[in-house]
Amino acid sequence: MKIRQYRRLVQIVFLIISAVLFYHLIFGKLSVAHQYCPYSAVCFGAMGLNPKFGQFLYIVPMIIGLIIALSTIFTGRIFCSYVCPIGSLQEFISKFNPMNKKRNKKNILTYKIHNILLILKYLILIFTMLTAYKSIHYLYIKNCPIMNINHPQNIGLIGMLVLSTIFIIPIFIERFWCKYLCPYAALMNIIQWIGKFLHIPRMKIHGTESACVNCQLCNRYCPMQIKISKKDSINDPECIQCGLCIEKCPVHGGLTFELIN
Ligand code: SF4
Ligand code: SF4
Ligand code: SF4
Repeated sequence: MKIRQYRRLVQIVFLIISAVLFYHLIFGKLSVAHQYCPYSAVCFGAMGLNPKFGQFLYIVPMIIGLIIALSTIFTGRIFCSYVCPIGSLQEFISKFNPMNKKRNKKNILTYKIHNILLILKYLILIFTMLTAYKSIHYLYIKNCPIMNINHPQNIGLIGMLVLSTIFIIPIFIERFWCKYLCPYAALMNIIQWIGKFLHIPRMKIHGTESACVNCQLCNRYCPMQIKISKKDSINDPECIQCGLCIEKCPVHGGLTFELIN
């Protein structure tokens, strides 16, 4: 079984689990999405740190969220490519991209614009942590995609725009929410930078530059728009370990997964 097929299987299992969960949340059979969302580690973790508030809510998802985020030190963002339903949804939606047959035209954003947009998610992370600490976390929660799906009857204009970044924009720009807006991705990236600073080996894509025939297929297929060719190992924390570049590389063993520090 190829990496892609194995990954698809795992993604579908987690999508089904999430759909069942959302069904129960939307129809009031379960109380609230925070109890199942790993990003509670940030929303409710920062709020619990405020002595004025004085307590940590949703302890279990907070701990799970922290474990997932910390595990990226060794595994990179494997959670994003295998488990997270928001990421998988965007990936499946991007199959409808009319440019899919012309892979060389697929990345409609230039690397310059892409690099600028990457900053947004760090700003959202800071905004969420600050507002959560001040116990005005509803500012983020009101527009969080998970909460919008949980309470479709309360969606406002911003909420609809947020959902469009998951359900519509990825038709044209793969994993738009993941690349530019997801604050949990920002947290995972920061943790990976800390790991790098401490010289902790992490799973990375390794390429042999001398073997590369410069076909650019890896760059064209990467859903995170990472420039893979011309690098000995991909240090970019944006890599979600999907393995698509490995699969597309025409050079046998040209790109591999390796534990590198
Ligand atoms: S970047 Fe965020 S939304 Fe995308 S797969 Fe990762 S955790 Fe999920
Ligand atoms: S660098 Fe390769 S493994 Fe990483 S996200 Fe891009 S295609 Fe996937
Ligand atoms: S797909 Fe392989 S051969 Fe082609 S540019 Fe990327 S690393 Fe080089």
